Amino acid sequence: MALELVFGKVCLPQRALIVRARSGAEELISSKASAGPLMQETQKEAPAGKRAVVLLSGGIDSTTTLASAKRDGCELYALSFAYGQRHAVELQAAERVAHAMGVARHLKISFDLTEIGGSALTGSLAVPKGRNAADISYGIPVTYVPARNTIFLSFALAWAEVLGATEIYIGVNALDYSGYPDCREPYIHAFEKMAKQATKAGVEGVEVRIRAPLLHLTKAEIICLGTELGVDYSLTWSCYDPTNGLACGACDSCQLRRQGFQQAGIADPTRYANPANL
Ligand SMILES: [Zn+2]
Repeated sequence: MALELVFGKVCLPQRALIVRARSGAEELISSKASAGPLMQETQKEAPAGKRAVVLLSGGIDSTTTLASAKRDGCELYALSFAYGQRHAVELQAAERVAHAMGVARHLKISFDLTEIGGSALTGSLAVPKGRNAADISYGIPVTYVPARNTIFLSFALAWAEVLGATEIYIGVNALDYSGYPDCREPYIHAFEKMAKQATKAGVEGVEVRIRAPLLHLTKAEIICLGTELGVDYSLTWSCYDPTNGLACGACDSCQLRRQGFQQAGIADPTRYANPANL
């Protein structure tokens, strides 16, 4: 029933997502076919009236996740990070979204992952541009930030314990899932299990659930879901490499965003630096 609630609102027929597995062979992954018991757990709606910490980057996925937590009746506590990512523009987007969504509080925490590096988002590596869909979906990209979701979820877990929140929402999804190891379903499950052992609340019997309502949705399905939930995507930001506050249109994130709007049949509100060249 919970699954029907999630998928039934998507405005497209279920789109199969073709990804190129690391072996090079193409796999056909349907959104529903890949739904296992764990997914039903992670996608189950939270009880109304619960407090939820929601990881909010200001992009499409985290914004739609925030809207999902709101739909689930949660009191919203948005959590964003300034971790040395290349551009602060995404944090400004997070502030706009948090305000528009009426969160109880928006907490921003700063730390510097550029000291560690190892990613195109926090180091000197160039952000890839103009890659085709097969390249984007193959392997772990240089925009992977080492252990980022573990770092983010750990902050969320600490705040959740202080707030007495029993829900943590994170916007990982099928597209990230194909390449980023910390967007996989077993990872989410493992973190939830760890949280029970890691906190005072956990050992005293208060379970924190990690909710990943977008886990098996494509970008188009996410955009459809958010649109139905009233999300204003003009407030959001996706580009890894903007120019003068405008999206580049060519990085992986821009391309996935553009394709998502096209496939959803919804107008893309993004302001691009060179729209004529898209
Ligand atoms: Zn871009």
